Amino acid sequence: MTTDLMEKIVSLCKRRGFVFPGSEIYGGLAGTYDYGPLGVVLKENVERLWLRMFRDERDDMYGVDAAILMNPKVWEASGHVAGFSDPLVECEDCKKRFRADHLGAPADSSWACPECGHGPMPLKVRPFNMMFKTHAGATENETAIVYLRPETAGGIFTNFKNVVDSLHPKLPFGIAQIGKAFRNEIAPRDFIFRLRELEQMEVEYFVGPSEWELAFEEWRKIMHLFAEAVGLPSGSIHELEVPDAERAHYSKRTIDFEFEYPFGRKELWGLAYRTDFDLSAHSGASNTELAYLDEETKEKYIPHVIEPSLGVDRTILAILASAYHEDDMGGETRTYLALAPRIAPVKAMVSPLLKNKPELVAKAREVRAELRKVHPAIAWDDNGNIGKRYRRQDEIGTPFCVTIDFDTLGEKPELKDTVTLRHRDTGEQERLTVPEVADRIRSAIQ
Ligand code: ATP
Repeated sequence: MTTDLMEKIVSLCKRRGFVFPGSEIYGGLAGTYDYGPLGVVLKENVERLWLRMFRDERDDMYGVDAAILMNPKVWEASGHVAGFSDPLVECEDCKKRFRADHLGAPADSSWACPECGHGPMPLKVRPFNMMFKTHAGATENETAIVYLRPETAGGIFTNFKNVVDSLHPKLPFGIAQIGKAFRNEIAPRDFIFRLRELEQMEVEYFVGPSEWELAFEEWRKIMHLFAEAVGLPSGSIHELEVPDAERAHYSKRTIDFEFEYPFGRKELWGLAYRTDFDLSAHSGASNTELAYLDEETKEKYIPHVIEPSLGVDRTILAILASAYHEDDMGGETRTYLALAPRIAPVKAMVSPLLKNKPELVAKAREVRAELRKVHPAIAWDDNGNIGKRYRRQDEIGTPFCVTIDFDTLGEKPELKDTVTLRHRDTGEQERLTVPEVADRIRSAIQ
């Protein structure tokens, strides 16, 4: 049943242009997916909302867009060169590789290959560094090695001093960034859940050492508000307090925000208190002063950091999994995506009842132009019968359909200039004037 749901989501995403397998005509490339015409808009809507809630609505937040390629010393200082690894095991027989912690076997036990069944074999684990390596410039030797960043945070910490020197923010303040990150995952899987090329929305929020708990609670609340704003059902996010032994050594507190995916409860986002680890490490390794001087108290210290880290792709998958619905309408099974109107790629579809009646078409064009003043994403569809048009929009999550018929033109004088507004989730229809429809759309997408 649950794999069935994943198959349906993957198939809908491909059929309707949300997400395609990467390099598909060449047989694909594991761990990569491409966002199609509707997916890219959904993603942009999610990112815009994040920027609004995590950066723009606040006076203490600044943005950066740092380069993906960075001086490799960044990743030495951050600990990624030495320690950004997953425990790798290899099947003695088929040579397939797995993450030891995904096998479900205790650390000292033997294991059987989930792929070919070979086993039991001894659990020989070795660390596998997940950073992608490449070379900068024309020399392909050790000195030219650069990494594709494994998280966007590195570009935030290295710009801490630039932001302080150029904008002079007072602590506490934060820096937000959206961008690509790359992880050579041993076993990419579960559609866009575990990718090798992914996108992150990250904040590094800098605080005085005694203020971390307050800031932690504040960001924790904002993350829940964001979950609600993108339409994840209340109660679908479960907080997991990461125990001491499993946390990164520098983190004093971490909460994983988990979501009930069709393949199990898994990490959606993370929130971590990273102490002064990052800025201290970069300050030491780069020999640059990264301490902050509090003008009032004259105290000088390395700021501590709270980091809400959100994966865009895992967010999109959570949105799709909770929005996917099937019901029975008019004796047929219909599929619809109950997307929150503010993130739906298409806000409304306008349609003349019949496409061969020029008066209907002209009026419908006029209505569409009017509604596009509210939002540009107002689609046009005059193909096939009206029921089919509604179904097509349901499947991509369009919250409203607007139909122009003979009553709009005044066949029943009391209905002149009114249109039918159909609601996606219930299929209910009501008769409204165009300004009333515009108001409905405007308030739904806020
Ligand atoms: P996991 O334990 O699932 O590998 P992680 O704890 O390594 O994840 P973080 O390093 O905390 O993940 O990364 C922050 C966020 O980036 C995650 O909460 C997730 O949303 C996203 N993310 C991490 N790895 C991937 C990936 N391979 N594919 C897609 N998103 C990812």
